Amino acid sequence: KSQEFIAALVEQLEKNELVDQVRIVSTGCFGLCAQGPIVIIYPEGTFYHQVKPKDAKLIVEKHLVAGELVERLLYHDHQTDEVINRLMDTPFYHKQKRVALRNCGRIDPERIEDYIAFDGYQALATVLDQYQPEEVLTILEKSGLRGRGGAGFPTYLKWSFAHQSQADQKYVICNADEGDPGAFMDRSILEGDPHAIFEAMAIAGYTIGASQGYIYVRAEYPIAVGRLRIALEQARNCGLLGEGILGSDFNFDVDLKLGAGAFVCGEETALLESIEGHRGEPRPRPPFPAVKGLFGKPTIVNNVETFGNISQIILKGPDWFARMGTANSKGTKVFALGGKIEHTGLVEVPMGTTLREVVEDIGGGIPDGGIFKAAQTGGPSGGCIPVEHYDVPIDYDNLIEIGSMMGSGGLIVMDQKNCMVDIAKFFLEFTVEESCGKCIPCRVGTKRLLEILEKITMGKGTMDDLDKLEELCKHVKENSLCGLGQTAPNPILSTYHYFKEEYIAHVREKK
Ligand code: SF4
Repeated sequence: KSQEFIAALVEQLEKNELVDQVRIVSTGCFGLCAQGPIVIIYPEGTFYHQVKPKDAKLIVEKHLVAGELVERLLYHDHQTDEVINRLMDTPFYHKQKRVALRNCGRIDPERIEDYIAFDGYQALATVLDQYQPEEVLTILEKSGLRGRGGAGFPTYLKWSFAHQSQADQKYVICNADEGDPGAFMDRSILEGDPHAIFEAMAIAGYTIGASQGYIYVRAEYPIAVGRLRIALEQARNCGLLGEGILGSDFNFDVDLKLGAGAFVCGEETALLESIEGHRGEPRPRPPFPAVKGLFGKPTIVNNVETFGNISQIILKGPDWFARMGTANSKGTKVFALGGKIEHTGLVEVPMGTTLREVVEDIGGGIPDGGIFKAAQTGGPSGGCIPVEHYDVPIDYDNLIEIGSMMGSGGLIVMDQKNCMVDIAKFFLEFTVEESCGKCIPCRVGTKRLLEILEKITMGKGTMDDLDKLEELCKHVKENSLCGLGQTAPNPILSTYHYFKEEYIAHVREKK
């Protein structure tokens, strides 16, 4: 849709002989996906939403030539009943803090000059010029950054293990194999700010002593892959990747590896197998990748959002980062907001923001007068958060305490019409489809769980089935080899915990 609008805009600029006076910048996602395609006209910053190719004529003739606003394309906020003509003035952004998403929607991701204009590669230059690897580790430790891929492992610790490991070769890997249903955080960063990832990976390489990196990215993300390729070439041509980076004696290069869409390859050891050219099946741990990873060498694997924070921590300092968030969860978190929500989109909030603030203040609440019932975080590995925890500050520890998990950041909102047994079944169908089949508890156990859920939702379940469901969930959780199987029962366990009456109603009322 955006490309069609751009084509129409070019045509109108040509007709009005404005081609030399107006520069069109194609950016990544602004975050407010529900209102896209979005156009912002600078220098005044006027924001038009849901534009169509036919609107290009009006924007050029009325706004650019006559200097008047195109009222019809201005945004009307249903909560405040106001017409808003600057994007950042919409309530959607009021409680957001954009760190990992800072450049998305702001720069042309295909121009390294744009990235550099917003301090791009400054952090890498600072690190090479001023810091020893140990000092980078100290900065990261003070910042409190934890991995954004799901488990929340302290980033400095992972990097320290790899730093301390002795080896002739080490590797830095960016896990961009985002596969949770409803999650598109990493895709947006790759599409909107690809150089940020290369810069952070180079900093990681310098810190742990690696000269080679890989980005493992889904082949189903063609725009992201295309922009990564462009950015890689630009960074190499500018001496920001490759040999003797920025005139130093530090060498570091990155290759792209395209994943074939298997969810399990997001598990870091399966990802390593896949890069090595084997079937993407998880390895038992220990040994952990930081000690024995890719091709048996020390390797750090971090996800896109984790890397997206690195340069800002170096440039603005660890205290700046650690001031955001809660005691044990520092910084911000990006969520892909979807489901029964007025403004679907990508949001980045300080850790500790409540679910109510995300859903009501940022997301604009439930459409059509609906009532919030629950939200699922962490995708198929996570759990639901019911309304009684609407005001719990979202951070790693609180989410685990209430039976969910941060996961990579998918956040699906449900209203009173959603059946929670159906929700659990939806996620389990996904897990059954994506299980690699290597271990029996996951391969067979998740199938049996799904059969029981199907029986229940078809009105054929018994109270015995509910007992079996609980028991089998525990077995799959405790005995599966990798995180996929270990967390597969979570959506059932959490919906059963908070909405047991719905399971019982299916069984008793045979519906
Ligand atoms: Fe494969 Fe599932 Fe076992 Fe993981 S838990 S190794 S995905 S079968």
